[in-house]
Amino acid sequence: MNKLKQVRGVDFHCHVDLYPNPIEMIAACDSARIVTLAVTTTPKAWFQNQRWTKLSRYVFPALGLHPELVSNRHREIALLEEHIEMSRFVGEVGLDGRPQFRKSWQLQAEVFVRALSAAERYGGRVISIHCRRAAGEVVRCIESHTTSGNVLAILHWFSGSETVGCRATELGCYFSINHQTLESERGLNLVRSLPEDRLLTETDGPLTHMGNRKSEPHDVLVTMERLADARGISVATMRDVLTENARRVLRFANVRLHGDESET
Ligand code: MN
Repeated sequence: MNKLKQVRGVDFHCHVDLYPNPIEMIAACDSARIVTLAVTTTPKAWFQNQRWTKLSRYVFPALGLHPELVSNRHREIALLEEHIEMSRFVGEVGLDGRPQFRKSWQLQAEVFVRALSAAERYGGRVISIHCRRAAGEVVRCIESHTTSGNVLAILHWFSGSETVGCRATELGCYFSINHQTLESERGLNLVRSLPEDRLLTETDGPLTHMGNRKSEPHDVLVTMERLADARGISVATMRDVLTENARRVLRFANVRLHGDESET
């Protein structure tokens, strides 16, 4: 067997389809060996993402319905429920508790619970979850509507309290860490409180910035370094931890990363 190349980084929440040239971005993830979860904001977008990533070895599309779009597009939850049979990855779904989305809160909750319940019915689903100003409620929904071992939830850009982080950990959740979280003392303390075997990195690109340009998946390499620094371990160890965590999450979804074949 060929000596397979190592994964260099993990971007477990990226809107690949929102870059000007998604096909180029997918090719860039493949050549940079960045394992990438390509989340979508509507179930309709998932089809195109699925086509684009068909030949990719590092980019995996996820079926989503973004909470910020729920007020207008809540009916599309029916499409998500229909297509989830074909998609092991779900996201971006979740709740947004900011004032500007308060009006859609009930609808958001209804849509999120339906997405969780659909994942629970099929099992073996990995879900990337938006929990901005709603971490407590998101974790309560995960607890009420899914069983750990059947659905694997990843709290994307988690910024809840350490108590909520603990509860989420008990429920089997993972956490994808955004570089912006590592810019505040509170965020640093939060990532230090999370268990090592539940950590992933993400960009949420192109909706976030790295300096004065839009973030791209390879920026997780910087996040990985900062995360290693925050937790007092070497970058090489951090990379091994993140790669192993990503492999475990992918295996849960019955996806084997190449290089996995050699393991038993
Ligand atoms: Mn996002």
